[in-house]
Amino acid sequence: MNIKRISIPQFEEVYSCTDPGSGLRAFIAVHSTRLGPACGGIRLWHYRSEEEALNDVLRLSKAMTYKAACAGLALGGGKAVIMADPNEPKLEKMLRAMGKFIDSLGGRYLAAEDARITPDDLEIIAKETRFITGLRKGSGDPSPITANGVLRGINVCIEEALGRTNLSGVTVALQGLGHVGFSLAKLLAHAGAKVTAAEINPKLTEKARKELSIHTVSPEDIFHVDADIFAPCALGGVLHQDNIPKLTFRIIAGAANNQLENQELNDRLLFDRKILYAPDFVINAGGLINIYVRDILKEKDVNTWLELIPKNLREIFSISKREKIPPGEAAIRLAEARLKS
Ligand code: NAD
Repeated sequence: MNIKRISIPQFEEVYSCTDPGSGLRAFIAVHSTRLGPACGGIRLWHYRSEEEALNDVLRLSKAMTYKAACAGLALGGGKAVIMADPNEPKLEKMLRAMGKFIDSLGGRYLAAEDARITPDDLEIIAKETRFITGLRKGSGDPSPITANGVLRGINVCIEEALGRTNLSGVTVALQGLGHVGFSLAKLLAHAGAKVTAAEINPKLTEKARKELSIHTVSPEDIFHVDADIFAPCALGGVLHQDNIPKLTFRIIAGAANNQLENQELNDRLLFDRKILYAPDFVINAGGLINIYVRDILKEKDVNTWLELIPKNLREIFSISKREKIPPGEAAIRLAEARLKS
């Protein structure tokens, strides 16, 4: 196994790893351990070049630093990427080599699940390292907790933008009925909200119609639903300069990562249009909070900790109003202040 350190300004540690025996080609970036060990998922993706994989791991690890700092957790930001074809069957020896790579950082990087890495893959990686979170015997599937955190965030948003203190009769257009989206739709429906959802997987659409009695529309039509809230719970980059000018929603609040195609420009565009945007890395922090509380603090009661999400959102909206800056920018300011303190 060939592990090489790469020097990148403003990143504490970055490594590349090639392991001809297993076929592993991977990077780990530790952006910051200023507040605690650098935590972040392992992403497996069909990167076209090492440069593309390196750029991704750098961008994602920095985002994790902001997410943890904004959430108010004693965690830093890190990430790992594996260069492989997601459609090929994963080789156990490659995942075990990844475990050895993670172990070589001695706990400064704490791994977790991310795109194309399943709970089964995590169990294999864990045979070679104890610096891994989100295992079945540990904090497990974070999705219901993430949905719970998003619901708490939505409650702050309706108070802020609609002057409402409960969700009864509030209309929500929800995109994606996967692990988080389905749980969120259920919580919203129980709270009295009127949910309209879109999902590309017909089995999930059917399940939601039957089990939750919610209305569904085609994926193209979800942006045109007459609703107070748009809750993106599918992919990133769904809001951009072409569709933001046409939106009629009052609030954007959902679980998806990187909802804005261009963070800075789209954050400003939403702000100028007076559409309240709950920064995704603040409102979807439930999964990270779950890991922190259950795997690191070894506590069981995540619920109390989830209150950090509404608390932080209130603070961000207050900075946004006071400084006349968009909420995404206010969230970054809050994170940077915590990193300096
Ligand atoms: P998931 O894959 O289970 O669900 C995503 C769903 O979106 C899938 O069912 C997919 O078919 C659907 N989808 C994809 N494109 C769509 C489209 N154009 N229109 C409608 N539906 C579409 O993933 P998940 O774990 O539920 O996560 C959802 C999002 O939240 C992701 O962006 C993820 O990164 C983010 N997130 C998840 C967690 C968590 O705890 N799982 C935590 C933080 C952030």
